[in-house]
Amino acid sequence: MTLHLSDYDLQLAADAVPLPTAAAAHLHDCRRCQARLATYQQLFTATARLPQPAFEFDLAATVLARLPRAKPAFPWVLGIVAVLVLGVVGAFVALLGGVLGQVFQGLSTGLGAGLVAVASFIVAGQCLELLARYRRQMSLLAFS
Ligand SMILES: [Zn+2]
Repeated sequence: MTLHLSDYDLQLAADAVPLPTAAAAHLHDCRRCQARLATYQQLFTATARLPQPAFEFDLAATVLARLPRAKPAFPWVLGIVAVLVLGVVGAFVALLGGVLGQVFQGLSTGLGAGLVAVASFIVAGQCLELLARYRRQMSLLAFS
């Protein structure tokens, strides 16, 4: 084999990862690759002896101090939307209660339309709450 081992293979070998058979055979016979492997082994040994880098301050405490306190999440927007939905449904039933039976002859059609309307209000409420939360969090991230 005329090609020498790649740096990646030599780094794997320096990390005591078994090489494929052909690469291991080449490494056994090639002085140049053995020298490069020895260099990587010395580099890895020296790197392992270096002290772990550390900040001069407590990074975790600094970051945690800047984070907002967790408060109990109350989906107030969802509550408002639910009250609105219930109000609309209640008003609808109160005003058109007698006519409802005649208008919606098929119960499944009326029920399906009602469910779709309620689900739409709920999804809209959740989207509004999500948007409000996103804006709140983005304003907290602006460390101005
Ligand atoms: Zn070689």
